[in-house]
Amino acid sequence: MSKTFGVGMMAVGIICLVSSMFEFFTLDMWEIPRFSWLPFVGMPLIFFGFVLLGPHIQRYWLKRNGDIIRDSMKLMGQGLQEGLGEEIHCPKCNSTNKRSANFCAHCGTPLQKGEYQ
Ligand SMILES: [Zn+2]
Repeated sequence: MSKTFGVGMMAVGIICLVSSMFEFFTLDMWEIPRFSWLPFVGMPLIFFGFVLLGPHIQRYWLKRNGDIIRDSMKLMGQGLQEGLGEEIHCPKCNSTNKRSANFCAHCGTPLQKGEYQ
């Protein structure tokens, strides 16, 4: 129900906007636009239609692109991890330590955490 309503609202809104734009561009300089109020009707119509359709669009979009999103998120996460580095170097002895470590496993120096943490 709300789906059909939303689609209808958006369609009418888009028609309003397009026809007002069309009028605007075909208008002669001295002509007073008769349909200048159309965008003010069309915009809210599109907006409310979009609000009504929101959950449907989301569901549809997620169904189609869910895997792509998940994959790209995973890739982004991996990239971020690689960018930050899993390991940090001890400032004193330069041995590699886990990022989660507070002290160097080699010499016990307190490890300076990066600005990311
Ligand atoms: Zn060390």
